[in-house]
Amino acid sequence: MAAEPSVPLSSCNTLRLTSTAQWFARVESLASLQALLQWAKARDLPVLPLGEGSNVVLQEYLAGLVLQVAMKGIVLQWDDGGQVRLRVASGENWHEFVSWCTERGCYGLENLALIPGSVGAAPVQNIGAYGVEVADRIAGVQAIDIETSEIVYLSSEDCQFSYRSSVFKQKRGRSLIITAVDFHLNRDALINTSYPTLKAALTEAEACHRDVFDAVIKVRSQRLPDPSQTPNVGSFFKNPLVAGSVAKRLGDQFPQLPQYETDSTKIKLSAAWMIDDLGWRGKELNGVAVSEVHSLVLVNRTATSSVAVLSLAGEIQQSVWQKFGVELVLEPEVLGVSDDSSK
Ligand SMILES: Cc1cc2nc3c(=O)[nH]c(=O)nc-3n(C[C@H](O)[C@H](O)[C@H](O)COP(=O)(O)OP(=O)(O)OC[C@H]3O[C@@H](n4cnc5c(N)ncnc54)[C@H](O)[C@@H]3O)c2cc1C
Repeated sequence: MAAEPSVPLSSCNTLRLTSTAQWFARVESLASLQALLQWAKARDLPVLPLGEGSNVVLQEYLAGLVLQVAMKGIVLQWDDGGQVRLRVASGENWHEFVSWCTERGCYGLENLALIPGSVGAAPVQNIGAYGVEVADRIAGVQAIDIETSEIVYLSSEDCQFSYRSSVFKQKRGRSLIITAVDFHLNRDALINTSYPTLKAALTEAEACHRDVFDAVIKVRSQRLPDPSQTPNVGSFFKNPLVAGSVAKRLGDQFPQLPQYETDSTKIKLSAAWMIDDLGWRGKELNGVAVSEVHSLVLVNRTATSSVAVLSLAGEIQQSVWQKFGVELVLEPEVLGVSDDSSK
């Protein structure tokens, strides 16, 4: 499969921003992925993996070879009647995979239903929702090294999962393209309804896994704009993690600001609450707005360039810093350059 030059990417990102890849190819097999990596290496081109573009802000121009990872397949590795191990190719759609598992009684991922994107991108930011992170169910990750074209295997520990992060966001992991993810699921996994909004949406007193799956879909459909109708990338900011002393100061000053314990010594703060408190909800700047339904989500109404998105994000970051002394970090990856002088 050959790479195509100068390919527009507006249909490859859920913010629907105008962007062009210097070279682009959609890869549907390991063999074509390896061939394309060798082709790029021979030309000294950087390689950038892309899934469904639901967690990226694409700037005007992406130099090098953009590879849309589209390998398909779900393989049952073993099933002992309780534990189930599946190997899932990176190009499978995440929600379709979660539905597939729920229908077949392989449980543990129901709380992550309806998250957009591909299976291969799920470990990158350790997707999470309603009290569950995908790291809890990942046994390991198969990847290919961009430099050597060699296939490598990372255990869950090697992936260094943390809140919305993993080794794939660090320098070492950036040279890897994830080709498949191994999941350990369970036929009698415990149901997690710890998240208050999810609990409230469950009508049955004795909820089963299917009920949780349905409730998550219902809650998400009410609380998040559908990217196919309203371009967005979900939460634009991570919830900040701060030291106990900072949390104490903020607790004294802003008693309503929600704070959550984490597995580490850090305290997680609600970014949405701070953005709401500053009155940002619904505000629009240059065609990009803070969603009316969820203040962590920026929606693209009419903008074509990442500049408009990033300038609204910058204004929000600055105002949060000024009032609360807290740094808001972007959740999506900003890729490429906005200045076409680099062409
Ligand atoms: C409406 C909406 C709701 C969302 N809700 C949530 C949520 O609840 N929780 C959550 O965690 N996220 C959420 N997201 C963010 C997004 O859905 C996830 O981050 C998802 O995993 C991105 O998948 P993707 O295939 O679109 O990745 P992309 O956006 O294409 O890529 C994201 C990053 O991963 C890298 N990447 C992609 N594929 C590979 C690969 N095969 N190998 C190596 N690197 C790769 C890319 O280079 C990029 O850096 C939401 C997004 C939207 C639009």
